[in-house]
Amino acid sequence: MSTTPVSEPMAIDSRSGSAAIIATEPAAQNSNHSCRDADLISKYDVSGPRYTSYPTALQFSETYTEATYRQQAQVNLKQGIAPVSLYVHVPFCQNICYYCACNKIVTADRSVARTYLDYLHKEISLQSELVGKYRPVTQLHLGGGTPTFFDGAELTELMHLLASHYNLSDSEQREYSIEIDPRTVTQDSLALLKGLGFNRLSLGVQDFDEQVQRAINRRQSVAMIKTLTETARLYQFKSVSYDLIYGLPLQTPASLAETLATVIDLSPDRIAFYNYAHLPQRFSSQRAIDRLDLPSAQQKIAMLALIAEQLTAAGYRHIGMDHFVKPQDELARAQQAGKLQRNFQGYSTSLAQDLVGLGVSSISSLHASYAQNERDLDAYYQRLDRGELPISKGVELTVDDQIRRQIIVQLICNLQLSIASIEKQFAIHFSEYFSQELLALQLIENDGLLSCEGDKVIIHERGRPMLRNICMCFDRYLPQGATASFSQTL
Ligand code: SF4
Repeated sequence: MSTTPVSEPMAIDSRSGSAAIIATEPAAQNSNHSCRDADLISKYDVSGPRYTSYPTALQFSETYTEATYRQQAQVNLKQGIAPVSLYVHVPFCQNICYYCACNKIVTADRSVARTYLDYLHKEISLQSELVGKYRPVTQLHLGGGTPTFFDGAELTELMHLLASHYNLSDSEQREYSIEIDPRTVTQDSLALLKGLGFNRLSLGVQDFDEQVQRAINRRQSVAMIKTLTETARLYQFKSVSYDLIYGLPLQTPASLAETLATVIDLSPDRIAFYNYAHLPQRFSSQRAIDRLDLPSAQQKIAMLALIAEQLTAAGYRHIGMDHFVKPQDELARAQQAGKLQRNFQGYSTSLAQDLVGLGVSSISSLHASYAQNERDLDAYYQRLDRGELPISKGVELTVDDQIRRQIIVQLICNLQLSIASIEKQFAIHFSEYFSQELLALQLIENDGLLSCEGDKVIIHERGRPMLRNICMCFDRYLPQGATASFSQTL
């Protein structure tokens, strides 16, 4: 799997890659996991956003144009040498995975890569003039589609293009990551990626069960993953992350337990466990999945509990909604210190204020706005042929949006909200500004999922599966009937 750069709503958010800390005792220590409570499951199993952005992509509009983006970039240029993050989207895949909700183009025609790289060059040139080519790039992420659809020469060319238009970092602290479809790389590919400056790998594992792999049209052996993991260690990548999915067709708690045991044995540094959301009306490839093969909401909740129990028992720390990391990992330390951050690329310790998305459908986050590139490849090419930035839509955040975004980030990253910090940052009186939202939180507190203590809202471990529901209390756009477009929260 790869990750779509950020568009909400999405069925699978790979990184998915997404805020003072308290409250998070390991799930394994909590045998009374609330998610086994059938009443609570049905009460909280509603449609809702994953909050890879706030406002979500549903609020993006075409009134946000290239001119708006250029204005935002001007504010940005004043930031001088503030760090910046880059995301590059490579949309091509060799094969279709049935569960996929990413923006991708499945093709066997390798020549499309050459054309795409030429257009990326145009966009990289335009963007670097706007967003400050001297700002250090502390984070770089290649996602897709399948970034390794590019061969070694093309990946090398891409990195040289980026290096000649941006201030790529050689700091040990940089986070340069790439999504890997294990079926498309060799051990030599990993050596090349290390040489090109990548220090983090994300392997799309999904599930090890053969029946499940057949049902999702993604066959890859344990041996293949094991070899790549060991090779990555040999080349001293800073971290190897596995992307896995629960809720897939033919998956059962028992089969998932076996996959988890294999994962624990292979010992990746980080694990992202995404919730498969079946939205065949939105994602045509999902129509190949028989809905009767899908686990029930109750089974999915049992899987969620199993994931937390097995991984925490194996020593992993549960981060945010769906990530697990080893205790010595910097994400674990950041969460303990209340400094965990999240953007479209996932959780991070050193997030730059601004993110520039490059490539078809990519999303940028500049100053107080989000901007999305054309989602259609031809439209993306045509805009660049005219010398334009391929911005198709976006949203400028109001102050209210910024307040709510900050609250949601705190809740999702740190499972705690510091009311005092919000009051200080935005000069508001929280209980007056959010009187209705506090009433909604009270109802969730009555269910034992969180506590409002003094100037803190603290989400309990048993409330972690309902994190999206809790964030929804602060989403002012949901009452406008948007929920049907989102995936189920549980
Ligand atoms: S089709 Fe498969 S490899 Fe391609 S983006 Fe989707 S999940 Fe990733």
